[in-house]
Order: sequence, then structure tokens, then C-alpha cells
Amino acid sequence: MKRALVCGAGGFIGGHLVKKLKREGYWVRGVDIKEHEFAPTQADEFRLLDLREAHNCWEALNLGNGETFNEVYQLAADMGGMGYIHTAECNIMHNSALININVIDAAAKIGVGRYFFSSSVCVYRDMEPGEPALDESDAYPALPDNEYGWEKLYAERMALAYARQYPIEVRVARFQNCYGPEGTWRGGREKAPAAICRKVAMAEDGGTIPVWGDGTAVRAYTYVDDTVRGIYMLMQSDLEGATIIGGDEYVTVDDLVETVIAASGKEIEIEHVEGPVGVHARNFDKSKIKSLGWEAGTNLREGIEKTYAWIEAQVEVWKARGGEPL
Ligand code: NAD
Repeated sequence: MKRALVCGAGGFIGGHLVKKLKREGYWVRGVDIKEHEFAPTQADEFRLLDLREAHNCWEALNLGNGETFNEVYQLAADMGGMGYIHTAECNIMHNSALININVIDAAAKIGVGRYFFSSSVCVYRDMEPGEPALDESDAYPALPDNEYGWEKLYAERMALAYARQYPIEVRVARFQNCYGPEGTWRGGREKAPAAICRKVAMAEDGGTIPVWGDGTAVRAYTYVDDTVRGIYMLMQSDLEGATIIGGDEYVTVDDLVETVIAASGKEIEIEHVEGPVGVHARNFDKSKIKSLGWEAGTNLREGIEKTYAWIEAQVEVWKARGGEPL
């Protein structure tokens, strides 16, 4: 039986990845600085460890029987949506860099076979609507739009450097925006799809919701099941270097909001307000991941319907408990 370590198993994508690996027949250890907030872990073993500390990374990787993990999936990061990325730059750069430095160093030296690193399309420069697609090589010359992207680029390079010096296979995915149930939906770290679902779920029928920016920024949103399937396919593949994982359904922020409103069945007006939006546009060439036969199987409408239903249920529970400040 293959053994996998999932770092960040208490988080959104990590939690879904643990379920996927269990379905694939792995023995899984999950590690995080916190428990999963929304679902009991499916991992065979779950450890609370702060991966900024090198000795905790060695503990996470120690199976105690002289054997090593076949695969390590590194998804632990100090991260959040645009609001968090723009206000917590120092925390993001400091905490995520320490995690990434320590986990790859311990994994390579302990003799792990394969290592997955979760990067982001935030490593790319800003784009204009209608620009031709960028591929993996176009991350250079580098000009990420925010410090989160710079840290990801550094961590990608570090993992790939270890792959050159140690017998460890490294796979790097650059995720586009990923969304779905069992992810952060309140508290300031939530990303746009979850924040919009929450605002719509909390709004009265006939009401208005605030949306950051002018609504014209272009993005593609990838449903979490598709992202996780892409991670798994990439990890089993021979694809070296970084690989973009994300769907091709590019929409404006207003299109996203309208999709959420349609899922709610309510009549809601959009009010555009000042707020951190991030880049103007995205357009990526996915030939590399598609060469493995990967495609995004869930369209935005289907994915948002599932996500909205889950967040609406969370909002109902929150209301029933007295609606403490979000
Ligand atoms: P998440 O915040 O839900 O998960 C990250 C997890 O890392 C959290 O559970 C957090 O507690 C854990 N963590 C933070 N600091 C830690 C520490 N010191 N020690 C141990 N664990 C720690 O985020 P996510 O959306 O699941 O993202 C997973 C990965 O994918 C991250 O690396 C993120 O940067 C990357 N990514 C996500 C998206 C997206 O749209 N969600 C897009 C691009 C890249």
C-alpha cells in the first residue's frame, strides 16, 4: 500500500485531496496547524504540527519503522483571498517560505520518492483582457502581481533545486482559482467565489450585495474535484517543471456573481465598491496538463450550485447559533 503525507490536510484543497487519496487506496497521514473546520478528516492519521519549525517537518515525515513516504503533497500555506493577500504580505512571505524551506529539505533528506508542491497562477504578471494565452514558460521574466506570487515562485525554484541534487521527483502545479464546498467562507481569508456565495446567501430576496471592483476582471474558476484530480494525475505523471491546472471557462467577476445569484433563486442587485481585486485578466494555455487527458469536468454553473448550497447551509447554521460577527 502506498503511503502519502498531506501537508495542509486541515485546509480546503488538502482536505479534498486526502479523500481522493483514500479512494485511490493510499494510507494517508494528514498534517496541519489546525483541525479541518468543516469536515472530519478522512486521513488514517492526523497530526497537529506547525511546519514552520524544521523539527516538526521531520516528525511529520517520520513513519517510525525505517520506511519513508512514497509521496508528499505540500499544500500548507499562509494564504487567503485578495483581501488577505494585500493586508498580510509579511505573514504570507515569512510563514509560507519557512514551511516550504523546511518541508522540502526534510523530504529530500529523508528519502521521499515524490514531492508535490502547490503553486499558483499568481506567479504570472498581470494581463489585459483578450491577451494571447500564457504557458508555463511565460512566468519568466518574472513580475508577479503580489508578494504571495513571489513567495510561490521562490518555493517552486527551491523544490526544483532539491530535485536536481537529491533523488526526489518533484511535481509543481500552478492552480487557477479553486472553489467548492468545505472551504473557508468567512473570517477574511475566503476567496471570491465563497465570499460572493456568503453575501448572496445572507442577503434578503430583492436586496443588494457589495462586490469589490468594477466587475470586469476576468478569471477562470476550477471546481475542487477537478483540481484534486489534476494533482493526482500530475503526481503520477512524468511531467517535470511547473504545470498549470485550471479550467478554460473564463468569466468576468460580474458573470461569477450572476451565476451565484441564479443558483440562489433570489433577485439581487450588484453594487460595485472599492476593494482589492488583483490582476485585470487571465488566459492560460493548459496543453501541458491536458497532455495527460485532464479536462475540467465541472462547469461554473454546476460547481457554483454545489458550492452555494453548502455555503447557504453554513449560513443557516450560523444564523441558528445567533449570528455572531463574521
Ligand atoms: P487553505 O488555507 O484552506 O489550506 C492551507 C492549510 O495550510 C490550512 O489548513 C492552514 O492551517 C495550513 N497551514 C498554514 N500554516 C501552517 C503551518 N505553519 N503548519 C502547518 N499547516 C499550516 O488553502 P487552500 O485553498 O486549500 O490552498 C492549498 C494550497 O494551494 C496553498 O498552498 C495555496 O497557496 C495553493 N493555492 C490555492 C488556490 C485556491 O484557489 N484555493 C489557488 C492557487 C494556489
